[in-house]
Amino acid sequence: MTNWRSNVRTVVPYTPGEQPKTKVIKLNTNENPYPPSPLVGKVISCLDEDILRKYPDPSCDVLISALAKYHNVDKENVFVGVGSDDVLAMSFMTFFNSKDPIFFPDITYSFYDVWADLFRIPYETKALDDDFRIISEDYLKPCGGIVIPNPNAPTGVAEPVEFFEKIIAAHPECVVIIDEAYVDFGSVSCLDLTRKYDNVLVVRTFSKSRSMAGNRIGYAIGSKELIKFLSDCKFSFNSYTMDSITLAAGVASIQDDDYFRDRLADVMSTREWTKTQLSELGFTFPDSMSNFIFAKHNTMDANVIFAKLKEAGIYVRHFSNPPRIDNYLRISIGTDEEMQVLINELERITKGVN
Ligand code: PMP
Repeated sequence: MTNWRSNVRTVVPYTPGEQPKTKVIKLNTNENPYPPSPLVGKVISCLDEDILRKYPDPSCDVLISALAKYHNVDKENVFVGVGSDDVLAMSFMTFFNSKDPIFFPDITYSFYDVWADLFRIPYETKALDDDFRIISEDYLKPCGGIVIPNPNAPTGVAEPVEFFEKIIAAHPECVVIIDEAYVDFGSVSCLDLTRKYDNVLVVRTFSKSRSMAGNRIGYAIGSKELIKFLSDCKFSFNSYTMDSITLAAGVASIQDDDYFRDRLADVMSTREWTKTQLSELGFTFPDSMSNFIFAKHNTMDANVIFAKLKEAGIYVRHFSNPPRIDNYLRISIGTDEEMQVLINELERITKGVN
C-alpha cells in the first residue's frame, strides 16, 4: 500500500521579508514609507458595516472601472487580484501550460521559481550580465512563456520598452508577462505594448507606489482575450478574492493622483540622495529605478553589515541565493529621516566610528 505522502504536492515555499513586531526602521520589504492618500482612510472610515454582511462584488467592478479609466483602456482589458502575487500566480497557472520551459532571469523575483514548481511548469533561468543587465538575445528562442520584472528585482535595473518589444515580437507562440511592481518610480511602462500585441500581460501593484501593501491589490492589463482566459481560471478557483473594503480603498487611491505623484517624487528624491551617500561610504550598486537600492560594500561583508544594522534596529534584506548576490544588501527607500539614520549607522559600521 502506498503511503498518503506520496500523493502530496510538495513545494519549497517563498520566504517573505520579516515583519517585526517591535518598532524598527524597516527597509526590508520595499514598502512605501508614506501613508496612502488621506482619501483612502476617509473612505474606509465612512464605510457602512452592512457591506461586510454581504459577499463582495465578484466582478470587482468599481476598481476595474477606475483602473480602466485611469489607464485609458476598456474594462475587459483589466484583471484585479489580491496583490500582484495573486495576479502573477493566476497568470502562471493560466498561461504557462506548454511542455517547453518558461524563461526568466537567474537573479529576479524569487517567487517565480516557486510558482513554476507549484504548478509543475518547466523553466530555464537566463544569467544577467556583469552589470546586472538582462540580455535580450537570451530570450529569443521559442519557449513556453516569459516573465521579467521591469525594473528587475532585487537589482532595481530597468530596461527600455524597445528591449521588451524585441522579445515580444519574437514570441507569438507564448505569453510574455512584464511585472511592473516598481515601474512608477521612474522607469517607462510597457502598457502601450498591450494594445499592439495580444500576448503581453503587464502586471502592477498598489503595494509599493500606492503605499497599500496591507490592502493587497494587484492588477493586470492585457488584450481582452488574455484577460478573459485569466478571469475564467480565477472564477474556477475562488470567485470572491477581493473584499469590499479593499475595493473601495483602491478606488480612492486612484482618485487622488496629485498625492500619488507627490509621494513618488519624494521617494525618488530620497533615493537619489541615498545613492550619493552610499557611494561616499564605499558602496557600489547598479543604478536603481525602483524604491530600493541593491548595494555592496567594497571591503565589508554584507552579512556583517546586515547583522550590525539589525542590532541597531535597522532592517534591510539579504539574499544568500544565488551566491553571486550574497554580498549585496537590498535597502528599501524610507523617509529622509530614516535614510539619514541608516547612513549614520553605515558610516559607523564601515568606518569603525563609535
Ligand atoms: N513582483 C515583484 C517584482 C515584487 O518584488 C513583489 C513584492 N514582493 C511583487 C511582485 C508582489 O507584490 P504584491 O503581491 O504586494 O503586489
